[in-house]
Formats: sequence, C-alpha cells, structure tokens
Amino acid sequence: MTPTKKASVPKVCVFFIFLRLFINIICLFIQHYVNLQVGMSFDNVESAEEFYKSYARAIGFDVRIGQQKLDDNGLVQWKRYLCARQGYKQKKDDVPVDPSKKKVKRTRETRCGCEAYIYVKRNSEGKYQISALYEDHNHDLVTPSKLHLLRSNRFVSEKTKTTLFNCHKASIGTSQAYRLLHVGAGGFEYVGCTKKDLQNYYSDFRNKIKDADAQMFIDQFGRLRELDPGFFFEYEVNNDGRLVRVFWADTTSRKNYAHFGDVVSFDSTYSTNQYDMKFTPFTSVNHHMQSIFFGAGFLANEKIESYVWLFETFLRAVGRKAPGLIITDEDASMRAATASILPNTAHRLCMWHIMKKLPEKIGPHLLEDEEFLKRVNSCVWGSETIEEFESRWIAIISDYHLENNEWLQGRYRIRESWIPAYFKNIWLAGILRTTSRSESANSFFNRFIGRKLAFVEFWLRFDTALQCQRQEELIHDNTTLHTNPTLFTTWEIEKHGGFVFTHEVFKKFQEEVLAAREHCDVQTTTELEDRKIVTMTDNYMRVREVICFTTDQAYKCSCMLFESIGIPCRHIIRMFRSAKVNELPVYYITKRWMKTCKR
Ligand SMILES: [Zn+2]
Ligand SMILES: [Zn+2]
Repeated sequence: MTPTKKASVPKVCVFFIFLRLFINIICLFIQHYVNLQVGMSFDNVESAEEFYKSYARAIGFDVRIGQQKLDDNGLVQWKRYLCARQGYKQKKDDVPVDPSKKKVKRTRETRCGCEAYIYVKRNSEGKYQISALYEDHNHDLVTPSKLHLLRSNRFVSEKTKTTLFNCHKASIGTSQAYRLLHVGAGGFEYVGCTKKDLQNYYSDFRNKIKDADAQMFIDQFGRLRELDPGFFFEYEVNNDGRLVRVFWADTTSRKNYAHFGDVVSFDSTYSTNQYDMKFTPFTSVNHHMQSIFFGAGFLANEKIESYVWLFETFLRAVGRKAPGLIITDEDASMRAATASILPNTAHRLCMWHIMKKLPEKIGPHLLEDEEFLKRVNSCVWGSETIEEFESRWIAIISDYHLENNEWLQGRYRIRESWIPAYFKNIWLAGILRTTSRSESANSFFNRFIGRKLAFVEFWLRFDTALQCQRQEELIHDNTTLHTNPTLFTTWEIEKHGGFVFTHEVFKKFQEEVLAAREHCDVQTTTELEDRKIVTMTDNYMRVREVICFTTDQAYKCSCMLFESIGIPCRHIIRMFRSAKVNELPVYYITKRWMKTCKR
C-alpha cells in the first residue's frame, strides 16, 4: 500500500478536468464572440472564405475547401467550406505495397467525420451569403497554446524566406536558420511556421530549381560579366544539353594570380555537388601566407581530357602565364594533363594528402604506436637531405616489418615527387601544405563542400566565403601597414625586415634573426679567388656551408631556405652581421612577401 501516491492521482485528474473546463469556456466565449450566422453577406467569395478561415483560426480548427458550382461565365454559384476533419479517409484498394521497395509514408489520420461547415451562395445582388451552416465539431478544438500549429495559421512569410536565404549564404543550414528565427521572433509561436514547414519549403525550392539550376548558374556568370568585363568563365555542355565542365575566375582572382601565381595548389579531393560533379579549385598563399583563391571549376568526370580542358581554360584566364610549381593530389589523369598542358611547370604531390591516407594503410596496431608516428613524421617532414630521408625510411620499414606494405612501397617509389628533401631547389613559396595551412583552406572550402549542393546553393555559400577570405586579407593588410612588430634584438637588419615584410612573414624572418644571434657559430673560413666558404653550426646540430661570392656580395647557403621559401636563413643573416650589412640587400627581399607587394 502506498497511500501517498494514491492520494496524489485524483488531485492531478481534478486539475486537468478544471483546466479542460476552463479551456472549453474560453473556446465557447470565442465562438460566441466571433459570430457565425446564416445570412451573413460578403462582397465576394474570397471574403467569405477569409472570414471562415479566420473564424477557424480563432476557434481552433483547420478549414478545407469543399465543392463548388460555377456558372457558364465561370462565376461561383455556391461553395462549401468544411472543417478539415470532415468525412473519413478513403481506403485505397491498391496492390499491397512492398515495404522493401517503396518508402512507406506514414501519415496520421486526421479525418473523424466532423460535420461543421458553411455553405455560401451567390444571391441576386451578386453578393455571397452564408445560407446554411453547422457550427459544432465532434472533436476537441485546438487549445490556444497550440493555435499557432494549425495548418491555416502556418505559412512561410517573405521575411522568413529572406532570413532563410541569408542564412544559406552564410553557410547556415535550415535547422539553424529556424533556431535563429525562433530567437529573433521571441518564441516558436511567433515564427509563423514550424521547422518542418521551413524544411519542406526549402526542399520544394530545391525541387523547383532542379531543372533550371545549371542554367541559372551559367546565367549568373553572364550577369557578372556584364557588370565586370574582367569576370572570366567558360563552360561546355554535352549532346544532351547537360553541363559537363565549367571554370570561372573573377577580376580580383585574376589580379591575385598576377601577384601570387608563382606556385599553385590544385585540389580535386573535395567532393562533388548534387550532380556528382567534382569541385576543383586553384589556390595559393598570399603575402600574409593565407590561402588565396585563383579560380575553380566543376568537372563531370576525371578523365584526362577533362583536366586538359580545365588547365587550358585556367591558362587562358590568367593570360597564359603558367605557374612555376603546381601541387596536386595523386591522380593519373591529372598527372598526364599537367605534363601536357603545363610542360614547364614543376609538378609535385601534396604530402598532406598522402600522409592523410597513412592511418588506413598501416593498420590499427601501428596507429597507436606513438614512437612509430613520431619517426614517420620526422622522416617525411623533417628530412633535410636525400640521404637522411632514405636512411630514416629504410630503418622504419625494417624496424616495423613493413617490407610487404604495398602502399608504402608505392609511396617510396614516387618519393621524388612528394618528399621535400628531393626538391629543395624548387621555389615553394611556403605552399607545401602543413596541417595548419590545410585546415585554413579546408575551413574555407568546407562550407560548401561535401554537401551535395545544387549550383545555386553552392554559389550562395561560395560567394560569401570568398568575400570573407578577401575581408581577412584586408584586415591583415591594414594591420601590417599601420602597426610595427615588436623587435627582439638591436640588430638593424631585424628592424629592416619588420619594415619590408608583412607581419606573418616577418615572424619567420625574426626566428631566423634570433637563431643567427643565439645559435650560429662560424667554424671555418676558406678564402678562394672569387669566393669565400664559411662553415657554420646551428641549433639543428648540422654544419652548413655558406658561399660568399666576392664579386656581387651574394650568399648561397646549403640549407636552401631562401631558395625554397624566399626568406633569408639564419646562416646568411649571420654573414650579414659579420659583414656589417644593416639592410637586407634587394635580392633577399622577395616581392611576394612584401607589405607593398600588391602595389
Ligand atoms: Zn471539426
Ligand atoms: Zn642557411
């Protein structure tokens, strides 16, 4: 026996009975207040309909349009409006549906044989009169707290649509857009529709644009070119009229290529859109070492001819000035296309993409081995010389018994195309993707990638993302032009670096200056006829060799930092210091890293 529980149940029941009574009284009051009478007259049938609907909204039921009769001129003679729960749903005698083949749509039954209705008839004066009605419902009416959920009380307003599309421009999906609307309106009941309504509206919109989507995308490019003759785009359709290739680059992107197109990263690993077309952007790094966009395409397939078309079109867009280096992911078609269209461009593979595949290729037990991962990383990223890389790699393969791992064997065979130790003499401009740089590029692309978007949706998101990228550049330009970095030494050359380089580049230069002061010690000096050779140790415990050509005061260091990323290394800076060079010679000020590089 639990008497306390027993006693509490009737209390709750009584409360609900009173609540119910109270609500019914309110409904009756509204019913009485909103008068519904035979003989009410309206100027036209639409007004009669609107009246019954607002009556229904106040009372708490939905209206369904019933039968009507038209005269020869198409004028309504009479028309019925019913409670939406009128009648019973007709049972379909269809062939039984096989649930495995067809998606069974579960709908809830709303019909319950309610008889409430009004009958509106046109009178001799051409007005519409309620000539019959039945007021009572055989079901509960919707209570005031749920009135906003009535179908007739819900619709997606123009204002809601605007918010929804603005959200999509900012890569905010429909569910989140609804949350925003809810907060803005101050409650669900004030949004005007439910989340489901908003989702249905958006999927109807997608269905509507489906056939015209690609056309709208291309039309949009046409309009952009009218506004800006520098907007470049080309496309091709197949025999069925389907868009199979498209490439675009706006004026700013093309100008940016003129400044930073020495190295290009071409990425086709981003996934596809709604039509399974691959998104293929061309990017690089700007003077703030941020990701920068040059142009992009969509390709229906990854055949050689598709890439050939894309690279050809890209070259046309950028005035046929091929980049010095292109970094791509591993793909045979792309490799072939690069070789034929960009014969003088060095082609290397993105090590980040390769290393990303490592976990799935080596199996779970090694993945948990921290020592293994540390060794692999320092072998791949940290090897400075070919000998160093090869000895480390061979040791890892043997220590972990990976001789039979085909994937690793394959990567070793193509080592010259992705291990930086093999191309230290190639100008990289810092484009080689480190994890952090990839993350920043991904945060740009992820907003519209991998979501199976329609072209129109893609464009909304892409355009906003691009504007954000350019805004970031402006912010960095402003900071770099109008503030001075903190100096850590009294060396004049550090000050000069802070004056010419952007803040981001200066940070790297400053590290070299500090290392030159703290860690570089001259070991030997050999004077020859036209040059001086200096050996030096640094904090990497390596011996570097700096050659100083006496005729033009040029330095060449065996670490190759300057040749690879355009920032003078600690060893050369150490030489400047000994030679009392207080300003960086022009040769060592790489234009693309200068504060004023775009001028
Ligand atoms: Zn009813
Ligand atoms: Zn060096």
